[in-house]
Amino acid sequence: MSDADRIRAAVDTQRDECAAFLAELVRIPTVNPPGDRYEDCARLIGDRLTAFGYAVQYVRPRAPRDGPPRVNVFGRLQGQVARPTLHFNGHFDVVPAGDLAAWTHTPFGGEIADGRLWGRGTGDQKAGIAASIYAIEAIRRAGLALRGCVEQSATVDEESGGFAGVAELCDQGFISAGRTDHVIITEPLDVDRVCIGHRGVYWAEVTARGVTAHGSMPDLGRNAAQAMARLVTRIEHELGPKLEARITAMPVEPPAARHASISLNALHAGQPIDVEQTPMVPDLCVAIFDRRFIAEESSGDVRREFDAIVAQEAADDGDIRWSVRELMLVEPTATPADGPVAQALRSAIQAVLGRPAAIIASPGTYDQKHVVRRGGVADCVAYGPGRLETAHRPDEYVDLEDLANATQVMALAALALLG
Ligand SMILES: [Zn+2]
Repeated sequence: MSDADRIRAAVDTQRDECAAFLAELVRIPTVNPPGDRYEDCARLIGDRLTAFGYAVQYVRPRAPRDGPPRVNVFGRLQGQVARPTLHFNGHFDVVPAGDLAAWTHTPFGGEIADGRLWGRGTGDQKAGIAASIYAIEAIRRAGLALRGCVEQSATVDEESGGFAGVAELCDQGFISAGRTDHVIITEPLDVDRVCIGHRGVYWAEVTARGVTAHGSMPDLGRNAAQAMARLVTRIEHELGPKLEARITAMPVEPPAARHASISLNALHAGQPIDVEQTPMVPDLCVAIFDRRFIAEESSGDVRREFDAIVAQEAADDGDIRWSVRELMLVEPTATPADGPVAQALRSAIQAVLGRPAAIIASPGTYDQKHVVRRGGVADCVAYGPGRLETAHRPDEYVDLEDLANATQVMALAALALLG
């Protein structure tokens, strides 16, 4: 019997156990915002890791934060030698269920029906956490031993930037070049796809300040909302086509997201809509722009280009005072498709599914940025069961067949990386 056959048999016999564990995870509504029930979910995962032989630690952010307590769980399974170390990371925060009427399954019921496990956070991404834990357990139950070490972390707040989660693990040394060789982030990119990285993000808040006046005599004021409308139009007409023409060589999925882009994400001016209105020319307008940039652009150029277009608007309209504030900057990141961790997963996908893996990149960012920038670990990809198209939507689910296959893939990849 080959190692691959032994792994397949072990994954098959623990199928129900793995699905039951996933259902337990889904029944804890770790909704972010605000960040509910993190402690309960971390304990459930920590207890399972302890039962499977890991040394477990709970990692909290060093600085106090508003809102419910943040807690991450980290486990280490000692191998025969200290290196290499393979780290699996998954986030257990989930987005809110949204409109309950749109669901046909209870969002936090963990129901199994039609070969699928249903609920908020199944794919994104509690299935990935269950798969990586049971992948390593399948190796043990198959009677195989790993030379290197496995570390697993389950973290919070990925949906809101990951600063109390993976960023903390990196800053506190749990994911670092000094101990970690390879990282697999178990996001739901689908059972046959390896995600090598993501595009960059620049969020800018633009404020226009004018002068208020009576709405019947607008010429006496300087209308900040109308000025912002002109800036929005300028950005759409002057910057938009330039960005659309910039195409990345990274295999971003969907292909429509392979060019740079900008989106007006928020716009506020005038009196609140739900109160009785008085005739006022708005003297303040604030807009938030979401600029996504490709690896071929530099963040410095992205900022300068944006500032320049606001400066042009200011030069054409001297009555308005403009300011730009940076809200977020994430650099693009990508690991080579033939790097060790990507290669191990590609071979494993071919062995388990009998077809070649697709190499993709993500249009939005995820925790890889922290692993690479803060942790200094470059050999990092995302791989996990579930489909992105079902994430954050009503009736989110994961196929149990995909869950079992991804578990096998992770186990074979771990064997290849750790010997
Ligand atoms: Zn996710």
